[in-house]
Amino acid sequence: MPTFQTVRGMRDLLGEEAVAFTFIISKARETASLYGYKEVITPVVEPLELLSAKSGEEIRQRMFIFKDLGERSVALRPEFTASIARLTTTALKNEPKPLRLFSVGSVYRYDEPQRGRYREFWQSNFELMGSSKPEADAEIILLTNSLMQNLGLQGYTFKIGHIGVIRGILSQEGVDEKTQNAVLQRMDKKEYDEAFRLVQSEKARIMLQGLLTLKGSSPQETVEKIGAYVADYPKAKGAAENLNEVLRLVTESGCPVEFVEPAFARGLEYYTGVIFEVYIHELDIALGGGGRYDKLIEVFGGDPTPAVGCAHGIDRIALALQTQKTALATKQEKKVAVLPITEALRVEALKIAQQFRAAGVTVEFEVMGRKMAKALEDADKRKMDYAVIVGERELKEGAVVVKDLASREQSTVPIQKLLEKIKS
Ligand code: AMP
Repeated sequence: MPTFQTVRGMRDLLGEEAVAFTFIISKARETASLYGYKEVITPVVEPLELLSAKSGEEIRQRMFIFKDLGERSVALRPEFTASIARLTTTALKNEPKPLRLFSVGSVYRYDEPQRGRYREFWQSNFELMGSSKPEADAEIILLTNSLMQNLGLQGYTFKIGHIGVIRGILSQEGVDEKTQNAVLQRMDKKEYDEAFRLVQSEKARIMLQGLLTLKGSSPQETVEKIGAYVADYPKAKGAAENLNEVLRLVTESGCPVEFVEPAFARGLEYYTGVIFEVYIHELDIALGGGGRYDKLIEVFGGDPTPAVGCAHGIDRIALALQTQKTALATKQEKKVAVLPITEALRVEALKIAQQFRAAGVTVEFEVMGRKMAKALEDADKRKMDYAVIVGERELKEGAVVVKDLASREQSTVPIQKLLEKIKS
C-alpha cells in the first residue's frame, strides 16, 4: 500500500496547533456573543453561480469547482459573504435590521501555498446588515480589535482606507466598472504599473499616481490630505469624509490605527466603502480584513441593504500567536488517570471515572489492560496530574489510592472525598 499524504495546500492540525485553533475559535465565538452576533452554519458546498456572483475575478479563478453526480455546477466556498447574502435574501429576509451574523469554518482557494497561505484555511466571519452609518463600520473594526486583544496579540495594528476614493476618481473620469475592478485588483497586489496601464484617461492616471504618494504624519492628517486632493471629485471627497468619521470613531474608542492608505484596495470585488486590514509587525500578511459592501444584497435579488463585514484568518492568527510565543489563556483543568488494579475492579473504577467526568474533571481510563507499573509510567508520560488506583483492599473501606504524579506523594482517600482532593 502507498502511504498517503494530504492534498497540496491542505493540512492536518495536530497537538498544539489544534489547541491553538480551538482557542482562537472560542475567542471569536466569545467576541460574537459580546457584540450580539448570532451564529449561522452554512454549507461548505454552494452553487457555483452564487459563489461567482460578485466575489471578483481573482477569487473566481481560484475556486475548487466540480459537478456533483446530479450534474449541478457547485464549488467549495472561498469565503462566507456570499452564503450570508443568500441567507439575508431568503430565510432571514424578514428579520428586523440590523442583522448581526457570525460564522466560523473552513474555506477553500486554489492559492499558491506558502507560509500563512493555504488552499484550505479557516475564517471567523462577521456581517452587519442594514446600516449605512459609520457606527456600523466602526463596530466591525472594533470587534476585530476586541478579538485581537482577547487573543493576547501584542502590537497589532490596523490599516484602513476607502474604496470610494479610487472608484470616485475613476468613475468621474469615465472609467467603466469592469475596468475599475481590474484596476483595483492589481492595486491590491501592489502591481501599480499594470493597474495604471488599464486606465485610458490620462487625468485619472495622474490622479491615482498622486494618490499613492499622499502621506500625513498621522492617520487623521492623511485623511485630510486625501480630502483636499480629491476636492474636485465629489464622490471621492464624500468617501474621504466618511473615512474620516469612521477613523474618528475607532481611534477615540481605543483602536490602534497605524496608517491610512490612500490607494488601499482589496481583492474582493463587492466593497463599496471603508476597507481595513489588521497586522502584527512580525508578519507581513494580514490576519484579517473587511469592509463595507452596500450593493451585494441587491445583486442577490434582495432589497437594497447596506452592509459591512470582515473575516479573520484563523491559520494566520495561529501563526501570529506562535510567532509572538503567546501563552494561550486556556483553562488548565486537572487530568486524572483511573487505573483498576485487576480486571475484576473495572466496573467500580469506571463508576469513579464517570463521577469525575460528571464533575468536569478530565479522566483517561486504563483501556489497555496493563500492569500497574506500566500504566503509571504511561500516566507520567501523558502528563496526568493524578493517578487514582482502584484496589480491592481500599475499595472494601470505600476508598482508593491517589498518587500525585508531580510530588510522587500517595495517600488513601475515601471515595466521597475524591473530588475535593483532586480539585483542591
Ligand atoms: P479575505 O476573505 O480575502 O478578505 O481574507 C480574510 C482573511 O483570511 C485574510 O486577512 C487572511 O488572514 C485570511 N486568508 C486569506 N487567504 C488565505 C489563505 N490562502 N491562507 C490562509 N489564510 C488566508
